[in-house]
Amino acid sequence: MKERTLSIIKPDGVLRGLIGPVISRLEKEGLKIAAMKMITMTKDQARGFYKVHEGKPFYESVTDFMSSGPCVVMVLEADDVIGRYRKLMGATNFKEAEEGTIRRDFATDIEKNVVHGSDSRENAEYEIGYFFSALEMAEG
Ligand code: GDP
Repeated sequence: MKERTLSIIKPDGVLRGLIGPVISRLEKEGLKIAAMKMITMTKDQARGFYKVHEGKPFYESVTDFMSSGPCVVMVLEADDVIGRYRKLMGATNFKEAEEGTIRRDFATDIEKNVVHGSDSRENAEYEIGYFFSALEMAEG
């Protein structure tokens, strides 16, 4: 069934010239990019994005990191895209990520792990709405 998910190429990925390699993997997997833009979040915007992690020990650090430079945010659309994109990204900790995943191949740190992907339909809806309006979404 067709789904949408939010993907982010995080500031470490943009800084290290990994926009092309990440997008190339998405396209090879057949995940359609329905919307895309480059933004730099403020600290408060990063806090709002990661509000599910408020109170966790890494919350301040990850929101500092996410607001440290430009990110590429995308809406991906495909059948079962949430799970398929999570599989393509690999585990949060790149040391535990499977061979051939984006995080295993490119991440340098549990925090600086290059990409984000929504982990459920409910979170995808919140996250897409956080960055995009319906007008910005490609049709068809
Ligand atoms: P994800 O869904 O795989 O991105 O993982 P989570 O939702 O659990 O965590 C969100 C993000 O916070 C991760 O992608 C990392 O950038 C960061 N993060 C998660 N766990 C840790 C941790 O233990 N330490 C630090 N410094 N950052 C973490």
